[in-house]
Amino acid sequence: MKEDNEGFRYPEVNTKICIECGLCEKICPIQNTPHNNNEITDSYVIQHKNNEIRRDSTSGGFFSAICDYVIAQNGYVFGAVYNEKMEVVHYGTNQKEEIKRFRGSKYVQSQIGNTYQETKSLLLKGYLVCFSGTPCQIAGLKNFLRKEYTNLITVDLVCRGNPSPLLLKKYLAYQEKYYNSKITKVKFRDKYYGYDFSTMTLEFQNEKIQYHYGMEGDPMLKFFFLDLCSKPACHQCKFKTIERVSDFTIFDCWNAKSFTKKMDKKGATHVFIHSSKGHEVFEQLKSYFHYQKTDIQQAVRQDGCMILSSTTPSKNREQFFNDLNSLPFDKVQKKYFPLTLKRKLIIKLKPFLYYIGVFKFYMRLKNKKHA
Ligand SMILES: Cc1cc2nc3c(=O)[nH]c(=O)nc-3n(C[C@H](O)[C@H](O)[C@H](O)COP(=O)(O)OP(=O)(O)OC[C@H]3O[C@@H](n4cnc5c(N)ncnc54)[C@H](O)[C@@H]3O)c2cc1C
Repeated sequence: MKEDNEGFRYPEVNTKICIECGLCEKICPIQNTPHNNNEITDSYVIQHKNNEIRRDSTSGGFFSAICDYVIAQNGYVFGAVYNEKMEVVHYGTNQKEEIKRFRGSKYVQSQIGNTYQETKSLLLKGYLVCFSGTPCQIAGLKNFLRKEYTNLITVDLVCRGNPSPLLLKKYLAYQEKYYNSKITKVKFRDKYYGYDFSTMTLEFQNEKIQYHYGMEGDPMLKFFFLDLCSKPACHQCKFKTIERVSDFTIFDCWNAKSFTKKMDKKGATHVFIHSSKGHEVFEQLKSYFHYQKTDIQQAVRQDGCMILSSTTPSKNREQFFNDLNSLPFDKVQKKYFPLTLKRKLIIKLKPFLYYIGVFKFYMRLKNKKHA
């Protein structure tokens, strides 16, 4: 895999040792998109019963429940984690205490590494394996395996796009320099200000530093939602369908109360079940969470615009990456996300407004204005 100047990796064939078998093209999920499950998709909303797990998860904690179940069956789970260099990589484990590493959406393309090969080897040994990832990663795994395994459970996400690993690297280096301390934890979707507001939380070796900024203050989140930094292919994603090759699709449920009054506003996961295997597993998971069957069209209408459509890249995307490669990070930030007086004011006032309980009303008003 070769990295380009935007920090995305692409396969490159070594023509010196290539035997021209054509297998790489055969298993490429873009050239040969695997067939979706031929079953009717069912839809649920869930909230994990353990509030600490749910607080730590992006939405309702579905993935932690399935991890717990699979590991209890002596199985292995695969998903995206941070490595020791704070890069986002795919990783597999059978250790319960490692489940927390998977929690939380990392808005960066994860490096698959050898996890497809590891998955195949575990499947052949008869272990139960749950593999999670973006829809393209699951399609890639299915093509790599080239046959169905009854002991494989796949979970994909509804995915807005996959930002550049190079951007994350530069962003983290900038923050470490600015705060003069090493970063120990990154959380793109912390629930610090509640589930309704995406908050980037950074933890530093110097524990006195507090970093909790939403899109008003954090450039990494802002660049993602401005569609400046995702992989080009994400803007013409081939996997935007309700039916999928996976057993489960998970995504944010912003208003669980519209489906059932029994749920609160602290985070809920929409779960689409695409296969009879998925249904069997879901039955086993029911004791982990509160759940409600939902109307699939309502779920798509309310929360699922990214299920079916790709975002349009910003017209500044190309220049953005040129600048990222040639300017210091603070200059890039200034150019694409200038610190206006209004932004300065929101950044200063937000903790106070939140503390006195007014922040959510301000945000609701703002969202209504932009709706
Ligand atoms: C890049 C990205 C874009 C997303 N875009 C949307 C969206 O537009 N709309 C929406 O409703 N939901 C989106 N999601 C999904 C959503 O943020 C939650 O992950 C989902 O609701 C599950 O939450 P949870 O609480 O059940 O699980 P969590 O405990 O939060 O589980 C996290 C799961 O996400 C996987 N994961 C995390 N980061 C990555 C990554 N970089 N690459 C591959 N897998 C990863 C982990 O392996 C794990 O399976 C996106 C997620 C990612 C990673």
